[in-house]
Amino acid sequence: MSAVQSTLTLKPSKSKTEVKNEVKKETNGIFGIEGLIRAMLKKHRTPFMIIRRSVLEKQYMRFRKHLPMVTPYYAIKANPHSDIIKTFLKLGSSFDVASGAEMKYVLSLGASPSKIIFANTIKSPEDISFARKRRVKFMTFDNEPELYKISKYYPGAHVLLRIKVKNSGSMVELSLKFGADPEHAYLLLRKAEVLGLVPMGLSFHVGSQATNVENYLQALEMSSRIFTESKENGMPLKIMDIGGGFPIQHFDNEMGINFERMACQIKQQLRNLFDKNVKFIAEPGRFFAGPAGILVTQVIGRTFRNNKNYYYLNDGIYADFSGMVFDHCRYEFKTLRRGQTFLSALAGPTCDSFDTLSLNEDIPELYLDDVVYVKNIGAYSCASATAGFNGFPPAKVILV
Ligand SMILES: *Cc1c(COP(=O)(O)O)cnc(C)c1O
Repeated sequence: MSAVQSTLTLKPSKSKTEVKNEVKKETNGIFGIEGLIRAMLKKHRTPFMIIRRSVLEKQYMRFRKHLPMVTPYYAIKANPHSDIIKTFLKLGSSFDVASGAEMKYVLSLGASPSKIIFANTIKSPEDISFARKRRVKFMTFDNEPELYKISKYYPGAHVLLRIKVKNSGSMVELSLKFGADPEHAYLLLRKAEVLGLVPMGLSFHVGSQATNVENYLQALEMSSRIFTESKENGMPLKIMDIGGGFPIQHFDNEMGINFERMACQIKQQLRNLFDKNVKFIAEPGRFFAGPAGILVTQVIGRTFRNNKNYYYLNDGIYADFSGMVFDHCRYEFKTLRRGQTFLSALAGPTCDSFDTLSLNEDIPELYLDDVVYVKNIGAYSCASATAGFNGFPPAKVILV
C-alpha cells in the first residue's frame, strides 16, 4: 500500500496561483475536461470528484429558461455538498429536504424557511416538531395517519398531497413506495383542512431519470382533474408541485434525452390545464447536480484473469460508484490514454467481488497510476458513499 501511495503522491511543483491559472486556462481552452483533470492531478491525490460551478449554474439557468413559471426546489439528497448548496442559494434557488437533519443543514447555510419544502411523505414526530420550531411550514403527505401526526405536531402546517403517478421507463421507480390513490385525493385534502392544516395542492414524482415525458403529461392531466374537483367543492388549490425526475445524459452518445423538448411539452400542459393563479414548483435533484460532477480515479493494480485485463481502481461501489447500486446508474468510463482498445474489466479497491464496476469496457491498455474518469456523476454518487468501507475513503470533492 505504501509503495502505491508514494507513486500517487504528486508533489506540486508550481505555486498556487500558477496552478489556479492553469486550471482556468485549461477549463476554458481546447483541452476541455481532460485538461482540467490533468491540472487537478498536479494538485490533488485521487480519487477526487470535481464539481464545476459553471455547470451547476448552467443547469439552473436552463431550468429557469425553459420552465420559467416553475420555481425549482433543489432536492439536496442528490448532492448535499455545502458549496453546491451555497451556489444554488446565490442563484436564488429553493430547497427540497427529506429530514430534520437536512432541514437544519440548509437553514445553517442560510436558506430561508419559506424557501424550503419538507418533501418526505413520512416524517418522524421529532422532525415535524423541528419544522414547526424553525417555521418550515410547507410539507408533503400521502396518507391519513400522516395527517393526524402533522396536525398533532404542527397545527396549521401547509400540506401538499403527493399522488401516485406512472413511472414508466424511469430509471428509479418511486410509485411503489409513495403516492396516494388519485381517487382519494380530494377527500384526503379535505381531511387535512378538517384537522386544522392548510391544503395547498398536489405533488407527484414521475421517477428519477424520467426519460418518458408522457409520465409528466399524464400526471399533470390527473392533477388538473383533482384541482377542478377541489375548486368545484369550494376548496381551490394553489400549488402544483411537479417533483423531480428531469433526466440528464450520462453517456456522450446517448440518444433520446432532450430536456428542452420535454420542458416545452410540460410548459404547454401547465398552460393548458391550470388556472392562471396556480403556482408551480419542482424538485430537481439529478438535473441540477449530475452534469457538474467528474470523478477521477487511478489504477492501483492490474492483472489478467478470465481472459481479459482487470484494472483495480482506487474508488468503487462502496464509495463514489454507489449509484450503480442505489441509483441503478451506468457510467461511461474514460481514460486519458488513447490507442487500441481491448475488452477489459474495472473493479473497485475493496476485498469484495461485488465491488466490480464493469466486465466489458472497451479501453486502451492501462498501467499503474493511469487515470480512469467518469463525467456526469455529480448526483447520487458521493451522497450515498459509505464513510470508508474497508478503509478506502470516498473521493475528495473539489469545486472549481
Ligand atoms: C429524490 C427526490 C427528488 C429528486 O429527484 P431527481 O430525480 O433527482 O430530480 C425530488 N423529490 C423527492 C420527493 C424525492 O424523493
